[in-house]
Amino acid sequence: MTHGPAGGVARPARRDTRLDPYVDRYAARTHGMTASAIRALFSVANRPEVVSLAGGMPNIADLPLDVVGSVLEDLVTTTGMRAMQYGSGQGEPMIREAICEVMRLEGIQAHPDDVTVTVGSQQGLDLVTRIFCDPGDVVLCEAPSYVGALGVFRAFQCDVAHVAMDEQGLDPQALREAVAALRAAGRTVKFLYTIPNFQNPAGVTQSLERRAEILRVAEEADLLVVEDNPYGLLGFDGEPTPAIRALDEDRVVYLGSFSKTFAPGFRVGWVLAPHAVREKLVLAQESATLCPPVFSQFAIAAYLANHDWRGQIKVFREMYRERRDALLAGLADHMPAGMSWTVPTGGFFVWATLPPGLDSHAMLPRAVTARVAYVPGTAFYADGFGSRYMRLSYCFPTPERLVEGTRRLGEVLAHEASM
Ligand code: PMP
Repeated sequence: MTHGPAGGVARPARRDTRLDPYVDRYAARTHGMTASAIRALFSVANRPEVVSLAGGMPNIADLPLDVVGSVLEDLVTTTGMRAMQYGSGQGEPMIREAICEVMRLEGIQAHPDDVTVTVGSQQGLDLVTRIFCDPGDVVLCEAPSYVGALGVFRAFQCDVAHVAMDEQGLDPQALREAVAALRAAGRTVKFLYTIPNFQNPAGVTQSLERRAEILRVAEEADLLVVEDNPYGLLGFDGEPTPAIRALDEDRVVYLGSFSKTFAPGFRVGWVLAPHAVREKLVLAQESATLCPPVFSQFAIAAYLANHDWRGQIKVFREMYRERRDALLAGLADHMPAGMSWTVPTGGFFVWATLPPGLDSHAMLPRAVTARVAYVPGTAFYADGFGSRYMRLSYCFPTPERLVEGTRRLGEVLAHEASM
């Protein structure tokens, strides 16, 4: 028995046996923030003996470290004090100008005043959702869609309505019908979230005609379009398709990133928004971070100014193309009958459909035991759908490892089918 400070008899300290003693204190908006069951498995999947077709990590081994090193050294010795100070909440003017030059490659004409720099495009997603969405609003997303965006929408207590895709990406007629049905049910639809190029996870790309048609539906329905485009410059065939934003500057909020064309660790992305939206975005950015990382912005601006960054993107593209080819060749050799997959023309991902009766979520632990990992399709739907699909990433493992990964996956699938 212990004695309390006021001289009374204290009860023995009560030990809270719940796993999280703070569970009753969290805000309602955190209820949607749950770690997925597959996360724990991925710590195993990251072991060297496992071929991971799961991660979406860019392969930056080809970055010219000598150039990056001299840029950083120069930055510290010449601009250091400015680069290490607080900066503009909207982002530094010279990088906003450089961002406009990058976007011109996809047909976008923009003014640096309309660009807000973010901590990766992931923060762009957060800020855009923060300024547009109230709890209970609906966000339209492709079926399937980027898992990190679904997490943001959930965190802001939005409901996700998935819209069907085909091999040319989002289906405009399905979009038209989804908006009509949701509005008829009294729901507020805030925006369409779409990844037009080499979609994560499906690997499909919207044709130019498809983009124009999606915009027509958006106009008809007076819908805002949030275009998320981290992979647009990583196409394997020809020139990039013009961005949706290149076709309409008043209806589209565009998210860009240096994570895949340079390096993700600098955490620099951006939002290009219609002029009227910019002020709210900057206020939201200032409230979240005061300013995006100034040092990173200076570093990237200096890299872009001092290096053939377009040539570097070509090097990345060729490396990813070789890996895509290796994964596709491995799939052709090792997948069982009844399995199909998309053929991406850029980016990082292949989306595979399993033979009937197989469940990618249920078989993941057995795949990891067989030393191959992937992301089950269920991760890319807000509603638990997707167990017949899996996302296979070819961005990180070497071509040889990719082929070995498909061989192991083929064995797992054959074994599953016989169970
Ligand atoms: N959007 C999509 C579609 C992505 O695939 C990713 C990264 N995997 C992001 C946004 C976020 O990237 P970052 O914050 O590094 O720019």
